[in-house]
Amino acid sequence: MIDPKCATCKTKLCLQGVTDEDMLPSYCPTKNLRELIEDVKAKYQSEELVNFFQCSALLEKECYDAKAAREEGRIVPLRPRIKEIAEFAKKIETQKIGLAFCSGLHDEASRANKILEGHGLEVVSAMCSCGALDKTAVGLPEEYKIRSPENFEASCNPLMQAELLNRAKTAFNVLVGLCVGHDMLFTKYSEAPVTTLIVKDRLTGHNPVITLYSRYHKDLV
Ligand code: SF4
Repeated sequence: MIDPKCATCKTKLCLQGVTDEDMLPSYCPTKNLRELIEDVKAKYQSEELVNFFQCSALLEKECYDAKAAREEGRIVPLRPRIKEIAEFAKKIETQKIGLAFCSGLHDEASRANKILEGHGLEVVSAMCSCGALDKTAVGLPEEYKIRSPENFEASCNPLMQAELLNRAKTAFNVLVGLCVGHDMLFTKYSEAPVTTLIVKDRLTGHNPVITLYSRYHKDLV
């Protein structure tokens, strides 16, 4: 298989429905993997996915002002992500969702919790240090501690967070600021699907996209 490299593609012709092989770049999956595209297409009709996928698509549509989009061709967004998450929960007709958050964003998690509960949702939440395990108790060398090696330093415990939310049988889980790596472990071990409300970026106030534009972040490679 030729690995896809969509991020380097200058044409983005798939967005316009173009499948003409002569127009697409050599690494293009739309050009190279016709059979796979058909296999994947069928999966969206499976009993397991059909409702989830249709709710996702409808949510996407409802995020824009319909009149502006249809009559004027303008894309006008209507609501922030946290409202999208709440609306999605309503669409899939669930009441119970999970919140897995970082201790460094406990205030943000509390605010998110309040808003989601305000939408009538039951929110089960687990902070990263749940279990109160010292870093050395989970096999980390004491020199991995950020502060003094002799003192207790709570380990992030994404497996415990996932297990708690698995046991609560949440319909999906929302990430608030888990560290890179810990977020992957949580996502891997969460039985429910995972979405992100806040992605942790310590240097930018949790706004990593700014590093792609700001001249003060241009030496990143
Ligand atoms: S699928 Fe093909 S046309 Fe679309 S972005 Fe990727 S490489 Fe470009």
